[in-house]
Amino acid sequence: LLVATGATKTFGALAAVREASFAVHEGRTLGIVGESGSGKTTLARMIVGVERPDDGALRWIGERRVQLVHQNPLGAFDPRWTIGRSLREALAAGGVPRARRAARVVQLLAEVDLDPVLATRRPLALSGGQRQRAAIARALAAEPEVLVLDEPVSALDPSVRERVLHLLLRLQRERRLTMIFVSHDLDVVGAVADEVLVMQDGVIVEQGAVADVFASPQHPFTQELLEANG
Ligand code: ATP
Repeated sequence: LLVATGATKTFGALAAVREASFAVHEGRTLGIVGESGSGKTTLARMIVGVERPDDGALRWIGERRVQLVHQNPLGAFDPRWTIGRSLREALAAGGVPRARRAARVVQLLAEVDLDPVLATRRPLALSGGQRQRAAIARALAAEPEVLVLDEPVSALDPSVRERVLHLLLRLQRERRLTMIFVSHDLDVVGAVADEVLVMQDGVIVEQGAVADVFASPQHPFTQELLEANG
């Protein structure tokens, strides 16, 4: 679905991502793990297309609708607008006719297990978990084939995190989404991903099926990460 060959992004003297080569397969979930500053977000931004590699390439096979979900769901909303208005605007941008938008908002909220009454609230009036669900609904409004999630559950309490992860797994199955899931949390990646890229200082040091990489890591850095994780 996506093939990256030698994708590199430099900021000044720093190579945030260096010669990343990997593939993303349709309907699968690719996890990207690594410590803070290892280049995960920069790689995710290149995958979404908001950042261009200054060397190498990332090529989608065919036209793809790609949506990004951030760690901070507030970034997905205008604080002055109700959740309903933000969702209606997203639907309008996606070409959904005005007459269908209100009903579609109710469906989208139901899909992420949110009460339709929340459409009348502003983002700051929602809990962290509700906000992240609303941000996922907003991404779904664009009918994406690919969701890129950058630390989507890191800011959430453990019990809420669990429920949002289950939601993502269900959506992935029901909508046959391709997901790229960035996280420093190996447990989270182990729970959702099929394949994994391990990043250290901008370099992919190891990649493969999650089951294989987690069971028998080849690179010392991956071994260290897994040991630190207990
Ligand atoms: P975190 O989990 O802390 O977000 P990360 O693994 O996502 O870390 P990146 O955010 O991709 O890492 O950052 C990789 C490196 O590139 C860091 O050293 C960061 O300071 C640097 N960097 C990222 N974006 C920029 C930018 N716009 N300008 C300058 N340096 C940047």
